[in-house]
Amino acid sequence: MTHIMIAGGGIAGLTAALSLHAAGFERITVVEAAREIQPLGAGLNIMPNAVRELDALGLLGRLDECAVRTGELRYYHRGGGLISREPRGLAAGYLWPQLSIHRGDLQRVLADAVRDRLGSDAVVAGVRVAGLETSPDGRPRVLLAHREGRGAAGAFLGPDVLIGADGIRSAVRAALNPGEGEPPWNGMLVWRGVSRVPAHRAGTFMFIAGDDRQKAVVYPMTHASGPDRHVLVNWALAMPATDVAGAARGDWNRPVPVAKFAHHYAGWEFDGVGVPEVLAAAERAFEYPMVDREPLARWTHGRTTLIGDAAHAMYPIGSNGATQSIVDARALAHALATHPDRAEALAAYERDRRPAMTELQLANRRQGPEVVIALAHTRAPDGFTDVADVIPPSELAEIASRYATTGAFDPATVNAGSPYELPQPARS
Ligand SMILES: Cc1cc2nc3c(=O)[nH]c(=O)nc-3n(C[C@H](O)[C@H](O)[C@H](O)COP(=O)(O)OP(=O)(O)OC[C@H]3O[C@@H](n4cnc5c(N)ncnc54)[C@H](O)[C@@H]3O)c2cc1C
Repeated sequence: MTHIMIAGGGIAGLTAALSLHAAGFERITVVEAAREIQPLGAGLNIMPNAVRELDALGLLGRLDECAVRTGELRYYHRGGGLISREPRGLAAGYLWPQLSIHRGDLQRVLADAVRDRLGSDAVVAGVRVAGLETSPDGRPRVLLAHREGRGAAGAFLGPDVLIGADGIRSAVRAALNPGEGEPPWNGMLVWRGVSRVPAHRAGTFMFIAGDDRQKAVVYPMTHASGPDRHVLVNWALAMPATDVAGAARGDWNRPVPVAKFAHHYAGWEFDGVGVPEVLAAAERAFEYPMVDREPLARWTHGRTTLIGDAAHAMYPIGSNGATQSIVDARALAHALATHPDRAEALAAYERDRRPAMTELQLANRRQGPEVVIALAHTRAPDGFTDVADVIPPSELAEIASRYATTGAFDPATVNAGSPYELPQPARS
């Protein structure tokens, strides 16, 4: 029986486990460095192309219970002027919604499904991949160590296939690309968090506001609940760093006081949603440097490959981090189920996914679709009366559609159905 080891129990790793199980594989082990899978992080958006894949895994109902179906994205000039309103998800003609969801809720839904379908032993927590060797026939020999264990002390295991789903600081990627070093940083800091806000002050849309240097992204990610009718709002702010020393750690969960940055957003209000009010309601705030990874010339080495952030970490622009990790997972399971030769399967997965992900990594370095806020500010620093004088509608449409085509998440491609559906699987 084929033994598939997945390094990392984040969004990519858990979706890969579910996808492989749905494709008929039975011996799947997820090795997760954290002591337990914890619902960490703030908000994420999952685009319709990934929701389609989660629906195929039978998870849309569970996700709908804890997410908001995002129907509109608005871009604003930092002075308050509305640049554009884009329908999203079902409102944009997709057959699947776009979901705004807390990363912890998405991870919980995935982890529960893994436990229910694969059994409670499928995830081995508190164990990390500490090293990797590849035998001449391409088979991985994986060094596993206790999460707190130092150096390379541990035990080797030889699965048939190794999937590196261990995030932006992937140990699997590092073993395949020795000397790559730390993720490159663009000098921007991101602050993010979650706030409980009265529903009527949270808006019913996602917005991205700012200019060529400073930005705010805000959206509701739960429906109103409780007697006070509050919703959870995700917010992420970005601007050039002044505290470079603190930023160098690059940790998703470095807590900082809101007072450190709130003053930079005084007066930022967009159609009734006030950034200062949202920040004032924040329980906690986290800081991290805006880092990504250089595109790799190769993800697959024999029977080892990479998915998610380990393969193609990109700036958090265009809602592609979790989205593309989910699609990777489904693509990889499909390739493994349809190619008897394991190394050829991984190579086929890479041929399918790597070119578009490289394009997206590079597009996000050019600010992706969010470039419209920079354009509006550069062309009209003091604001505008009619946005069409600043950015013609045809240019706005062209920017949005070029990005959607780059990532293959335009409505026509997505609505054509999943290319990763399999006939009834034979257990392997
Ligand atoms: C704690 C955390 C919070 C995040 N919060 C947000 C957020 O608020 N908003 C957002 O847009 N994105 C967030 N992200 C990133 C987002 O989840 C990813 O961009 C995206 O979902 C891709 O997921 P991934 O599974 O490839 O990587 P990740 O989500 O980073 O998951 C990688 C997993 O691998 C594990 N791991 C790492 N090294 C090893 C090793 N050597 N051996 C075994 N396991 C290992 C990690 O513990 C983690 O569980 C967060 C990531 C993390 C880890």
